[in-house]
Amino acid sequence: MTSRRVDAGRFPTADADFFAFENLLSDKERSRLAEIRSWLEAEVRPHAVTWWNEGVFPRGLVAKMAELDPMSPVRRQGYSNLFAGMVHAEFTRADTSIATFLGVHDGLFAGSIELLASPEQQQRWLPDIYAMRTIGAFGLTEPLGGSDVAGGTRTTAQRDGDTWILNGAKRWIGNATFADWVIIFARDVADNQVKGFMVDTTLEGFSATKIEHKIALRAVENADITLENVVVPDSFHLCGANSFADTNKVLRVTRLSVGWQAVGQQLAAFDVARRYAVERHQFGRPLGSFQLIQQQLVQILGNAVSSMGMMVRLSQLEDGGQARDEQSALAKAFTTARMRESVAAGRSILGGNGIVTDYEMAKIFSDAEAIYSYEGTQEINTLVVGRAITGIAAFT
Ligand SMILES: Cc1cc2nc3c(=O)[nH]c(=O)nc-3n(C[C@H](O)[C@H](O)[C@H](O)COP(=O)(O)OP(=O)(O)OC[C@H]3O[C@@H](n4cnc5c(N)ncnc54)[C@H](O)[C@@H]3O)c2cc1C
Repeated sequence: MTSRRVDAGRFPTADADFFAFENLLSDKERSRLAEIRSWLEAEVRPHAVTWWNEGVFPRGLVAKMAELDPMSPVRRQGYSNLFAGMVHAEFTRADTSIATFLGVHDGLFAGSIELLASPEQQQRWLPDIYAMRTIGAFGLTEPLGGSDVAGGTRTTAQRDGDTWILNGAKRWIGNATFADWVIIFARDVADNQVKGFMVDTTLEGFSATKIEHKIALRAVENADITLENVVVPDSFHLCGANSFADTNKVLRVTRLSVGWQAVGQQLAAFDVARRYAVERHQFGRPLGSFQLIQQQLVQILGNAVSSMGMMVRLSQLEDGGQARDEQSALAKAFTTARMRESVAAGRSILGGNGIVTDYEMAKIFSDAEAIYSYEGTQEINTLVVGRAITGIAAFT
């Protein structure tokens, strides 16, 4: 039998960035990215499968993460959106649950305050949030309002003197079981507009119950929330959150991060599948020596690289203040569709071992399903693009 050369170490981790997009970063950004990558390899990746299996968020990680200082890389730390995207992909590559925890606390929660709160409110809340001394969540989706939540928000806010009274229910709210704050979006009964409120989770009438039995992002604690006559002072109404168009300012940016998550998910699938293909032998040869296995590895790599190319350009547009909603929507729809193909190919390369979490791939495969659905589903993002290119809305 012909001997086939196998050199698993010849393709170091970072080279899954096959077209060297990372070279577009400044020297400072590249060295910071390397620092974050080492932290993730040391503090997250070795424990991620255990956390996922246990289905509990590792609260002890928060203090360590605070030392890394990952919060608000663009607005607070002056890095580019391209850098922020690549960092988010690296978090996801290490573990999608931990990336999602940060995506909620930083992108959705802190991002809402940065974009929608007054300067006085920002000064009051952001220092503790950036230092991760207080943790937040973002409460938009409802049990009966998912894709149509823009026009279908049922949670109500009623003004009463200097306070607002909130009533209703939220579903899927990440971090809410242990968060100090949840931004609740509620419809003002007076003008029918969706407004945002900083809600202290210890207030009377607020309760959050963990959603159990998930098959994806098991280390993220998603909650069902109920609000029964929760009284919020007017000074906790986010001054700039007065319509769904305001909420959308946050979602356009976070949708960009989710596209980068789809990149990270594919890099993770590639890392694990490639390593397995060169280490595992069948028929007396490594799996990676079979042409059909090589074809699947190349499919994952091609999908990852094309997704990354799209996200790099979108981030550059965002850096130039030119990114549009429909571009974020196309990127989210395209990269998550490629991601689903990639994780399926990766799972297939691991055979039976692809369905147990011990080999990481089953976690990567399952977590992809959450990315596929949150921040606007595949279908809704497709319809947002369809509306932009035809001028005809298929949904209202
Ligand atoms: C793990 C996880 C974490 C999440 N975290 C948060 C969070 O922190 N905060 C928060 O507010 N929300 C969160 N969400 C909610 C998420 O944003 C919603 O799940 C998502 O918007 C879809 O809503 P839905 O699940 O109610 O599905 P539905 O809206 O009920 O949709 C069901 C299916 O019908 C399709 N569909 C709906 N309308 C149309 C249409 N007009 N045309 C074609 N197809 C259509 C959808 O694409 C989907 O395939 C999270 C969800 C998950 C799964």
